[in-house]
Amino acid sequence: TTQTETYEFQAEARQLLQLMVHSIYSNKDVFLRELISNASDALDKLRLEAFRNKDLEVEIDDLHIDLEVDRAARTLTVRDNGIGMSRDEVVGLIGTIAKSGTAELIQKLREAKNTDGAASADLIGQFGVGFYSAFMVADTVTLVTKKAGQAEATRWSSDGAGTYTVETIADSESVPHGTAVTLHLKPEDTEDQLHDYTDERTLRDIVRRYSDFVTWPIRLETEKTEDGKTTRRWETINSRKALWARPKDEVSEEEYREFYKHISHDWLDPLRTITVKAEGTFEYQALLFLPSRAPMDLYYRDAKRGVQLYVKRVFIMDNCEALIPDYLRFVKGVVDAQDLSLNVSREILQQDRHIQLMRRRLVKKVLGSIKEMMADDRGRYDTFWREFGRVVKEGLVEDPDNRKAILDIASFASTHHSEDLTTLRDYLDRAKDDQEHIYYLTGASRSVIENSPHMEAFRAKGLEVLILTDPIDEFWVEQVGEYEGKTFKSIAKGEVDLDGTDDDAAEQEKADEESFAALREWLGKTLSEHVKEVRLSNRLTTSPACLVGDTHDLPPALVKMYQQAGQ
Ligand code: ADP
Ligand code: MG
Repeated sequence: TTQTETYEFQAEARQLLQLMVHSIYSNKDVFLRELISNASDALDKLRLEAFRNKDLEVEIDDLHIDLEVDRAARTLTVRDNGIGMSRDEVVGLIGTIAKSGTAELIQKLREAKNTDGAASADLIGQFGVGFYSAFMVADTVTLVTKKAGQAEATRWSSDGAGTYTVETIADSESVPHGTAVTLHLKPEDTEDQLHDYTDERTLRDIVRRYSDFVTWPIRLETEKTEDGKTTRRWETINSRKALWARPKDEVSEEEYREFYKHISHDWLDPLRTITVKAEGTFEYQALLFLPSRAPMDLYYRDAKRGVQLYVKRVFIMDNCEALIPDYLRFVKGVVDAQDLSLNVSREILQQDRHIQLMRRRLVKKVLGSIKEMMADDRGRYDTFWREFGRVVKEGLVEDPDNRKAILDIASFASTHHSEDLTTLRDYLDRAKDDQEHIYYLTGASRSVIENSPHMEAFRAKGLEVLILTDPIDEFWVEQVGEYEGKTFKSIAKGEVDLDGTDDDAAEQEKADEESFAALREWLGKTLSEHVKEVRLSNRLTTSPACLVGDTHDLPPALVKMYQQAGQ
């Protein structure tokens, strides 16, 4: 029995679809990359499943992705014989968007929509909408799928408006496992030779441009007419070369870029490409990328992080967290190890000695590469730090072994310049020879900090102060202690000994102490519930008084956090 049910897209999915249907993204060709990438994932999953589950009775010797064209009907089908989906999975995976940050994305898209189409495209790119991009070129999309090892096949269909239908196919037995996505192409594309997706040349070009390195064969049914006789045959149209295994100088920038987009689901170019090749007793290769834009979900707990893990060219898993620490969670890429078991699981990975070794090396490589970028391409480095600096600073707390390396690549706002950030090296170069501290002040914003009374004496003396406004700053600055022998010192805490106080000043201080003793005593009594101590200060120039924390007090932001948490 077949039963067709109509479902509504989840609200957020519907809004995203809308944007696709009225395509704001100028490069529609990428829909094919998205569908091929899904097919490729499905083949990876099936191979892995067949490997782990010996009871699964499926043929995995001939896994491939087929592109089928019906010119008369104006349809293009992308077919894989991969893992497939159950009926429930179709509803769950295709009908909803389960990603963190979707609401924010839609909000931002709304804001950008009326003003700037390019900005919207960027936003979508950061998010990666995958399957839905089919609606940029199709009026109707039909998906037929059967999960490997199951009997029931499902048909899903939608015109990208509010609803989709799902039915169980009556003759499920005749459907092979895997997924076929059929696009009923929009009519207006007919005149456009370059974007006629029923045209063999067009499809070849797009596949070569975006999906050449996909490890599975992408096949196109081609026609050849010889001596008046027409024959049709399947031809593999991608070269299938694993990019990370090829020598660096044989790979073009464009190939790296497209590969990055393939694995990251980002539509923007990467900021930097990092290649790693380890030889010797434990061999592996890595190809890593720094994105040029922070993803929407960078600060979400459940966001996907980590790199792809391959073992001897066989895809093992996505989002392998064990290889990359949390504070470098934005790094994308592939690690291919020679001597790991294909059977590794996430649990085993955490403890594996080889993985630990690789991780340490990859961290060094990434930090080193950022340092290089700082030296050879300051503009790019600035972009990087603006997008990811906050996350990298988490490493100062998380990864004490690499503190120095992280401080070397960090930059901070400071009183030296109203906009440009400074490195600690530059701060120290500007500091007076006898300055023992790196002065800083934490706070909610630059203007709050600049207007703080604590700042007055420092400004008067021409002492540079770092302006730290990220929540994470409170944490690391407490723990890190020093940089190149100079200690970090909050100008809001304890006694600040402004270097160079001379003897005259000391005598003046003594006299002041005496003449203000009565006032201090009175203030101390009157404010006894609120302050520990009232003392004279040389840190103010125009304000009469300010509040100062004890050297060992919790930072104000932490106090606030604890209070909010009810402690
Ligand atoms: P993403 O690939 O980023 O997860 P997509 O929108 O491209 O997002 O796809 C959503 C989900 O639908 C996939 O994660 C996958 O589970 C499922 N899916 C899509 N295409 C296929 C396919 N060809 N075979 C199996 N599952 C698929
Ligand atoms: Mg996808």
